[in-house]
Amino acid sequence: MKRIAVVDNEKLRDMSQKQHIQSLCPVNRSGTECIKLEGSLLTIDEVTCIGCGICPKAAPDAIKIINLPEILDKKPVHRYSENGFALFNLPMVFFDKVTGILGVNGIGKSSAIKVLAGILKPNFGEIGKEGQYDELIEFFKGTEMQLFFEKVKAGAVRISYKPQQVEIIAKTQKGKVKDLLKKVDEKNALEEISKKLEIEKILDNDIDKLSGGELQRVAIAASVLKEAELYIFDEPTSYLDIKQRINVSKFIRNLANENVAVLVVEHDLIIFDYMSDNSHIMYGSEDVYGSVSGIKPVKNSINTYLSGFLKEENIRFRDKQVKFEERKPFIGKNPDKLIEWIGMSVKLGKFSLEAGEGAINKGEVIGVLGENGIGKTSFVKILAGEIKASGKLDENIKVSYKPQYIEASEELVMIYLKDAIDKYTNQIIDPLNLKPLFLKKLNELSGGELQRVVTAGCLAKDSDLYLLDEPSAYLDVEQRLKVSKVIKDFMELKGKSALIVDHDLLFLGYLSDKLMVFEGTPSENGIVKGPFLMEEGMNIFLKKLNITLRRDKESLMPRINKEGSVLDREQKEDNKYYYG
Ligand code: SF4
Repeated sequence: MKRIAVVDNEKLRDMSQKQHIQSLCPVNRSGTECIKLEGSLLTIDEVTCIGCGICPKAAPDAIKIINLPEILDKKPVHRYSENGFALFNLPMVFFDKVTGILGVNGIGKSSAIKVLAGILKPNFGEIGKEGQYDELIEFFKGTEMQLFFEKVKAGAVRISYKPQQVEIIAKTQKGKVKDLLKKVDEKNALEEISKKLEIEKILDNDIDKLSGGELQRVAIAASVLKEAELYIFDEPTSYLDIKQRINVSKFIRNLANENVAVLVVEHDLIIFDYMSDNSHIMYGSEDVYGSVSGIKPVKNSINTYLSGFLKEENIRFRDKQVKFEERKPFIGKNPDKLIEWIGMSVKLGKFSLEAGEGAINKGEVIGVLGENGIGKTSFVKILAGEIKASGKLDENIKVSYKPQYIEASEELVMIYLKDAIDKYTNQIIDPLNLKPLFLKKLNELSGGELQRVVTAGCLAKDSDLYLLDEPSAYLDVEQRLKVSKVIKDFMELKGKSALIVDHDLLFLGYLSDKLMVFEGTPSENGIVKGPFLMEEGMNIFLKKLNITLRRDKESLMPRINKEGSVLDREQKEDNKYYYG
């Protein structure tokens, strides 16, 4: 069987550890050099390695040996180094369609689209080589991608790419938004695109002063203002609220036509479903290798993803199927109120926030929905005692609070998570797979790793109310499913209450018993409504967005109805925006 060995030499302590690992290898001991040491560089020969599992056990953070599925018995499209990550296959590109790519982080999604975008020159496994289009044409001979790369080579397909990390734009670009966009406006459509993406009001703002959501929309505008036949969007809805997510999804959908293809990577499953026509699943082993499944209509692709099994490829990529259930009528867990507010209001500069009358009962999980800049975080801070408001608020409860923006310190993860490790290894540490992070410092973690660690830290504190502000940010689809389950199970186990602010409808719908809805005008005023029963709250919220949700018959996952479809019209007529 073909196998792949990935070695991170920086994670191996010193020469003596490397020599020790080399001495353990049965192939080396029998006289063949499988583990080599050249200078201080340890490498593993994948041909002679017999996959005994001894060296990855000796250095689990640094060495991974993975048996490849039979279907990948060919050379990779790209390999980062001799024992580095390998990418097999690429997603296909279809004109007149939005093609989605679904998969966990670290599986090569960004690498694959960088090859398509011409940013990463593939080496086909030969380190140091820079492949040309001729080789890509040869590699994909007999497939749709052969035709695509022929067109790219002939200059008939120009590519525009919106990168994943929009924060970099604020660090690398200076000046006003308008000036940046004018430079790339090959279509002379700055006014029209700015209007569609609702960025007209920030055109005169300095780029380095923009919020994450503003940067995201400016980055999308910049890529769309370029003339291209293929537009690639890597995570186009991060930092956006639901209203903006829906708007951006419609905008991206409308780009595809007979001369234009669109590729998109997205982690919000409901938005992914809404935005894409068809989709690939990327599978493999995190940071070791990644490959691309065959193409399917988006509905089938999502249901396959949830099932955890790729039938055509005969690959199981998750032990368990993800199941959604019909929501049972909420009968209330505990009639006792935990915290109550009456006539609360606060003025924060030009912004004012009002909350009429509401309460959180013991044992309830309350989801919070609303646009950006409408006071959700301020409300959370009032409950956490960080902001003082007028009116009545019972403040004699213990609150554990995970803020939206997390400051990462030098502290070691295992010190930060001491309470969680001592008390909740089974409930929190294991399901969130935090053990491999124990020896890292908080400021060395990726966005998704830090989010999981800080969420775990928040849950492990002894508290009456858990306030979690955007716990799904930076998480991939799989991690979102896991984190929502951990929060829900934990609250049930402890009989505690939680308030969860988030923009991912699937995430929030899964774990919430009730819903609060924030209305008003962003940056001017916010009005807090609820908590409502889930159906009532969703109905109020979705009606404002003018979208309807149904449950998929097979997976029971919520899906946004196509605007104007029979179901959409029927649900609107019945005033049942949520599930009908
Ligand atoms: Fe040697 Fe391969 Fe076993 Fe590692 S897994 S010890 S390289 S045979």
